[in-house]
Amino acid sequence: MSKYTPIIGLETHIELKTKSKMFCSCSADYFGKQPNSHTCPVCLGLPGALPVPNRTAIESCLKIALALNCEISSFSKFDRKNYFYPDLPKGYQISQYDMPFGKNGWIELNNGQKFGITRVHMEEDTAKLSHQIGKQNESQTSLVDFNRSGVPLVEIVTEPDFHDSQSVTEYLQRLQQLVRYLDVSSADMEKGEMRLEPNISLALNPKQLPAYKVEVKNINSFRFVEKAIAYELNRQEKLLEKGETPRQETRGWDEKRNLTFSQRIKEEANDYRYFPEPDIPPVTFTKEEISTLKSQVPELQSEKTKRFHLDYSLSAYDAEILTRDRVTADYFESAVLLGKEKNVSPKQIANVIINKKVDIAGMSSDALIQKVLETLQKPTISEEILSKTLHEVIRKNEKAVQDYKNGKETVIMFLVGQVMKSIQGKADANIIKTRLEIILKS
Ligand code: ZN
Ligand code: MN
Repeated sequence: MSKYTPIIGLETHIELKTKSKMFCSCSADYFGKQPNSHTCPVCLGLPGALPVPNRTAIESCLKIALALNCEISSFSKFDRKNYFYPDLPKGYQISQYDMPFGKNGWIELNNGQKFGITRVHMEEDTAKLSHQIGKQNESQTSLVDFNRSGVPLVEIVTEPDFHDSQSVTEYLQRLQQLVRYLDVSSADMEKGEMRLEPNISLALNPKQLPAYKVEVKNINSFRFVEKAIAYELNRQEKLLEKGETPRQETRGWDEKRNLTFSQRIKEEANDYRYFPEPDIPPVTFTKEEISTLKSQVPELQSEKTKRFHLDYSLSAYDAEILTRDRVTADYFESAVLLGKEKNVSPKQIANVIINKKVDIAGMSSDALIQKVLETLQKPTISEEILSKTLHEVIRKNEKAVQDYKNGKETVIMFLVGQVMKSIQGKADANIIKTRLEIILKS
């Protein structure tokens, strides 16, 4: 047990899936497109171009804030965050400083503990840089693709309320589910649609925030966040034990070497010379507009899990699996409705969806109920006969077994067929397949 308590907060950037960009009419659907094909004077930062805020993006940002139990400011504005970097053509990012759309929210995790959401604000994404080694000589070339420049970005900042990486991961998973349930982002981390930045420090007295914090930038997987946190806690503890205070800085995560490395000494907010964006009037919302948006926030995953657990007498585990995404949850509920007429219970439906790994896009709820009924009526055979048949089929099909062992894995289906034939289909093909694999691989 370490004598230090980890103090962790999170900043998460999420790209919204709006049709157009945040301040211009260019398409925001840029992933994998020809570089610089989705650009205009606004998102290229050309002089004189004027930004016009995207209403849908702002509403999506508000929905996220509402779903995170934030207070919504009836009056807010955009600000310029000034810094120089080649991915930022204007020399500033349009963001929100002291009047974010949402603040003072919270989220409750599975253990019943609440974690504070400091703010939810709206900003724009930057261009994408790629660094290449030149073909002619060894000089390095950097290319800028402005397709991402100006894509709507929501930043969600938490309080430093996390003390272990397990709750960090759960929070991030919840947040990803939440924006998917709201249907405002796909939050696909491999495409960079969700980017994670933990702030990490260690405190001797957990009631008092340490005098420093280390921010690890732009991590693109939950697993890497866990690894980066573990690495940082270890690194910082060693420094503290030597009587040093870790430097307040921004670090990067090197996924190949599994370590964090120093990028720059952390800047303070006033280094950014924030000032109100003069080209965009303040944004106001009436009480009615806010309550309309609130009514558009659907039942979220945590509530749905509780309801499935109680209303359908499912185990907490099954309820959690069925509500991981809205499509599966809706599919399950429509099947339950149909099943009622045929005396099929929600539990039986859940069993089939979860255990048989039903492809819900390819099977109507009608067909699913049919499948449940078949499963229920399926005659079964004893374990003794099944086991005997499996070994018999393996013995009689030496060539197929040899082919399988030589790497021709599809042969297994032939063996499954032989077993099925011999027992007249009185067992589940998937189970037979698994059993055969176990025997053949041992
Ligand atoms: Zn544009
Ligand atoms: Mn940001």
